Amino acid sequence: MKALIIGCGIGGPATAMALQRAGIEAEVFEVYPASAEGVGAFLNVASNGLDALRVLGAHRKVMAAGIPTPHMVMWSGTGKRLGEVANGLALEDGTVSHTILRSDLYRVVRDEAVSRGVPITYGKRLVDFEDTGDKVVARFEDGGEAVGDILIAADGVRSRIRHLLDPQAPEPRYSGLYSLGGIVHDAGFAGEPGVYNMIFGKRAFFGYTVTRTGDAWWFANLPRALGDVPADWKPVLLEAFADDAGSAAELIERGRADGGLPVHDLPPVPTWHRGRVVLTGDAAHATSPSAGQGASLAIEDGIVLARCLRDSAGHREAFERFEAERRGRVERVVAYSRTISNGKAAGPVARVFRDLALPFFLKKTASQESLAWMYRHHVAL
Ligand SMILES: Cc1cc2nc3c(=O)[nH]c(=O)nc-3n(C[C@H](O)[C@H](O)[C@H](O)COP(=O)(O)OP(=O)(O)OC[C@H]3O[C@@H](n4cnc5c(N)ncnc54)[C@H](O)[C@@H]3O)c2cc1C
Repeated sequence: MKALIIGCGIGGPATAMALQRAGIEAEVFEVYPASAEGVGAFLNVASNGLDALRVLGAHRKVMAAGIPTPHMVMWSGTGKRLGEVANGLALEDGTVSHTILRSDLYRVVRDEAVSRGVPITYGKRLVDFEDTGDKVVARFEDGGEAVGDILIAADGVRSRIRHLLDPQAPEPRYSGLYSLGGIVHDAGFAGEPGVYNMIFGKRAFFGYTVTRTGDAWWFANLPRALGDVPADWKPVLLEAFADDAGSAAELIERGRADGGLPVHDLPPVPTWHRGRVVLTGDAAHATSPSAGQGASLAIEDGIVLARCLRDSAGHREAFERFEAERRGRVERVVAYSRTISNGKAAGPVARVFRDLALPFFLKKTASQESLAWMYRHHVAL
């Protein structure tokens, strides 16, 4: 069996490595000249994602490129400590969630796949596919074609394949938040490395952590109308955090603010597969970033899909088993993350209730095991 994988983000190369381990040939096609890499942005690879990378033998390189971030401390905009929650649950060997530059994560996963002989072709935008019954043909914008036995969509939240598969598929829904972030080198902030400080500010949400070398990595979630993009985000951010206690304004002042991306997730997508084509990762179930799970889910998908393909009589049975195993879990994560995002985008009235409810919520989730379903999920190959 030969699999064509569309998209060389996080899930694409991880899926190719998983397929290789399952004895299935895979080729990856990516629209950009090299993998899409957002400068400055960073993301959380949760303990379950690292566990999945370990199944592929790729976790060490990812961890070496990131910083351990096992804890979160929540603050109100007035400077009140609301509580502490675990950012993931440590695995048996002590592995904890890591924060890593998006560009580093893309590079490490892609380079690992290449070193294992996975072919990746860049500059290939899939525009269409044809399922001929016994094969599937991927058609690219440059007029080229590729033929395989199955087509795996790892083409992200704006997936072209999702729409080709089902023109009625839901559109990504805007969370009400824009996301920005930056790194201040040698910030000299006092703070415990590995702890995320999360501030539910009066007008926006701010998170930062300090590294052992004294850098500060920060991100902001700003409630804003979709499309309302200023020429310069910095004054907008400074105004949003002007009345809050904590280091938000100072960190924003001292560096560049990258991103300015609207945050989306996907409502449940009814059709995950048809014929020889299957959706994975953000293409099937994009989650808002609040739970820090999107990349981890995409990697888990790749492993489960590879196992289902290896252990099934054919691709149809494999895709059904894949969906049966994955849908409940990923939709639960999307819903959980959406609840957190809604809290960040709260208006003035909802904010009052949020601030009253947060300490109780934090108490509940501070009990390690209440989030074990998310962080201790193990996928085997
Ligand atoms: C602001 C922000 C913060 C985030 N923070 C976190 C976090 O802390 N933790 C976390 O786990 N996740 C986070 N995420 C989510 C995470 O980035 C995604 O869930 C993850 O990248 C999904 O992987 P994927 O492989 O499915 O898609 P992607 O990584 O998006 O990759 C899709 C790839 O497909 C390519 N492509 C698209 N269309 C085509 C086409 N037609 N033909 C060929 N190639 C195509 C794209 O160029 C891209 O390289 C965040 C996302 C955002 C926006």
